[in-house]
This record gives sequence, C-alpha cells and structure tokens, in this order.
Amino acid sequence: MAKIKDTGLIQDEPLIFEQGGKGRKGYSLPRWDVEVAEAQSLIPTQLLREELIGFPQLSEVDVVRHFTRLSQWNYGVDSGLYPLGSCTMKYNPKVNEEIVKMSGFSNIHPYTPEDLSQGILKLMHELQSFLAEITGMDEVSLQPAAGAHGELAGMMMVRACLEARGERRKKVLVPDTAHGTNCSTSTIASYQMVEIKSNEKGVIPSEKVAELMDDEVAAIMVTNPNTLGLFEENLGKIAEVVHRKGGFVYCDGANLNALMGILKLGDLGVDVVHINLHKTFSTPHGGGGPGAGPVAVKNELAPYLPIPVIEKDGEIYRLNDDRPYSIGKMRAFYGNFGVLVKAYAYILSMGAEGLKRVSEMAVLNANYLMKKLKGHYHLPYDRPCMHECVFTDRFQEKYHVSTLDIAKRLIDYGFHPPTIYFPLVVKGALMMEPTETESKESIDRFIETMVQIAEEAKEHPDLLRQAPQRAKVRRLDEVLAARKPKLRWTGNQ
Ligand SMILES: *Cc1c(COP(=O)(O)O)cnc(C)c1O
Repeated sequence: MAKIKDTGLIQDEPLIFEQGGKGRKGYSLPRWDVEVAEAQSLIPTQLLREELIGFPQLSEVDVVRHFTRLSQWNYGVDSGLYPLGSCTMKYNPKVNEEIVKMSGFSNIHPYTPEDLSQGILKLMHELQSFLAEITGMDEVSLQPAAGAHGELAGMMMVRACLEARGERRKKVLVPDTAHGTNCSTSTIASYQMVEIKSNEKGVIPSEKVAELMDDEVAAIMVTNPNTLGLFEENLGKIAEVVHRKGGFVYCDGANLNALMGILKLGDLGVDVVHINLHKTFSTPHGGGGPGAGPVAVKNELAPYLPIPVIEKDGEIYRLNDDRPYSIGKMRAFYGNFGVLVKAYAYILSMGAEGLKRVSEMAVLNANYLMKKLKGHYHLPYDRPCMHECVFTDRFQEKYHVSTLDIAKRLIDYGFHPPTIYFPLVVKGALMMEPTETESKESIDRFIETMVQIAEEAKEHPDLLRQAPQRAKVRRLDEVLAARKPKLRWTGNQ
C-alpha cells in the first residue's frame, strides 16, 4: 500500500503510469453486430506492436481526476495575483479566447491560397497598422514568434541596412539595465556587446552614450521602461547622439502596458522596436503556449522586413515575396495565428481610450504598491516607477533572511512570488508587477502579506528560512536539481 500523503484537500497524485490496472478502460462500446476481426488480420504484422510497455490503462474517472488534481496544483492568473515582474501576468479577457475558436480562424490551413484567405490577411494587415499607430512606427511585421525573436529580426534588419550602405559595424551598446535577451540578440546577430552603466537614477545618461558612440557602433538596444521599471528619460537625446554617428536605435518594447496611448516610442527617435503580444495584448506570458513578437520599423528599415510582406492592393490583400533587400523568412508559417487574433480583438474592444487607461492603471498600481512597501523593504531607486517596481532584501539581511526566503514565504500565504534576483544590477532584487487588472483590494492583500513577512523576518526568521511549509512541495534543493537533473521517468522508485 502506498503511504497516504494527502493533507486536507491538497491531494497527492502519483504519475499516470503508476495508476490503473490491466484491462481497465475509459470506454464501453455497444455489442457489435458485425463479424469480429483480429487486428492481425487487418494490419501487416510488422506494424503491430506486441506489447505497449508501461502504457497506463485507466478508466475515464481516473483520467479526469488525474488531470484535474494536477491542474489544482497550478497557480495561474485565474487563481490570484501573480506579481512576476517583467512578465505582465495580468488577467486576459476570456471573450478573446472564444473569438479565436471561431472556425474561420481555428480551421485555417497554412497552405490556404491567398484569394481564400482574404479575411485572415485583412486582420493581419489591420493589426499591423494598429501596432504601427500604438508605437509611432511606419511598418510592422508579425512574423517573429516571441520577444527575443523580434529582437533578432530587428537587429538583422539593422545589419542588412548598414551592409547596403557599405558599412560593416562591429559593436552594439547595451545598458546594464537591459533585458537579458538584448545581450543574447546582439551576440547572435554577430555583434560585440558594449555595456553602458546606468547612473544613480537608474537610467542611461546621454553623455555616456556619446563617449562610447563611434562609427563602429551599429546600434544601441534600450529597454524602455527598463528592467528597473524606470522610464529612460534621456532616450530622445540618446537617439540624436546615436543617429549623428550613423547608428540605429533599437527599443525593447516588450512592456508596452506602461506606455500605450501615452507615449509613442517612434516619437523619441526609435528606429526599430518589438512588442510582446503575449504580455500586453491578451495572451498570457509564460504559459508555455505560443506568443508573438511583432517588430515595427521606421521607413528607412522597411525594405529589410521579413518576407512575405502583407500588402494591400485596392481591396485585395497579397503576400509579397518579391523584396530584394529582405532579411528573408523568420519562420515558415504563422502557427501562432490565434495570438494575433486575440491581440486584434483586444485592441478593437479596448479602443484608443481603453488602451491608454490600461497604461494609466498599470503605472498607478505599481506606484501604489511601491509607496506602500517603501520603509518595509529597501527601495534602491526611490522615484516614480512605470509598470513595475524593484525592492531588495537589504533591510532583512541582518536577520539572515534573503530574497529567496521572502519569495518562498509568499507561497505559504497563497501568492505567486515576484521575479527574484533580476535585474542583475540590483543585489537581491524583488521585482514586482501588479498589472492593471488587479483591484485595490487584491493589491492591498498582497501589501499586507508583504508587510507581515517583513515583520516575521525580524521576529521569526526561521519561518521564512523554512518556507514554504503549506505548499505541496517544500523548498527544493536547487543545487542538486541543477547538478543531477532527473529528466526521464525511470519507473516506480
Ligand atoms: C519578456 C521580455 C523579453 C523577451 O520576450 P520573450 O517573448 O520571452 O522572448 C524581452 N525584453 C523584455 C523587456 C521583456 O520583458
């Protein structure tokens, strides 16, 4: 007999391979009125498997309970506040999921000819123009499948444009507050990365950029708002400095829920920007599902956009492959088309005013959280933030309590922990993003819990160091997991 490990309603659940019994089935068929034929007489014997080793044999209720129980161990935006900074784990309207399921969208085949896909192409073309309007750019490609993929497309266009000018530049400037993907992108696009140090206000001074900027620099990659949740207030000046020396300005616009309807990045001199539809535009981020990272450019970079480009010719939409300067295809098909439909539906249903309100609420909520936690946790950059704020564990250090302990204790109180130890420029960072869809009560509950944890750190630091206690699993041995990863099921052990 297996030891009973359930506590209350937190049910334990073995692997599906450990359940069921020989011959148990999830169906029952009516008695047949035709002659029974053995599989061997219908299928060539070399294609028949004698035995499916370890294949689970379960009833319908076994299967339903298995997956329902597993789903109950999950924490998602539908279960509560999910303050994971840099990820925008906000609530996304369910109606947009329903729209994606409409058969005209969900049954479209990648090889459907252009003249039978006019509605689809129209939707994509219009979504492109919405995104161009929101970012203040001239043209958009929906091809990149994620934020990092959009960055790569952007930097490849920069490279192609410079090469067309006969220039082979070698370096890309990346601030220490940039998202980690910016460093990877510049490296994968074969550039040498040069780091710019942010100043005591947490932003990049244009003088620093001027010092580093020369005709070897292809571009600067700026995350705005940066990973400290701060607005890069010198971006306009920085763009002038970079342009004067013939470079390009790449803006990482993954966190657009801080800016929509308030500021157009194109107005600040940005030449190319990517957008994460799976953060701001009604697809959850980090769900393991598909995303989309459209890239928007100014006219100068438009000839280099990935092919095919969706063009409108009178009332007809076309996919144009005949673009001699294009960087080529970023991928073969739009398997993530549903993400585009949700973004389209979201933008239309919110309208310009609604999108602006999203940004205002995202920024208001983050500043409210920041003000209320200030004093309980160390705030390294004490100034108004955008859609997220960054604290540290410095006040808790003297009780030998760390950022990790604080994050784990939050689990005991039923919250998903914030992003921790990122951005790297802040030691012991706790990066929190409440998002625009949380009510005041829900943010207040989170604040109360954070304050209580700060008190516990003083009086009962052990509680934090041993957290989580009320979760399905206790603290994991992360060193062991990294050194000896268990990647495959090897039977009952
Ligand atoms: C999320 C994020 C990215 C990366 O997006 P992916 O879709 O995960 O590749 C890049 N930059 C910033 C600022 C982000 O927040």
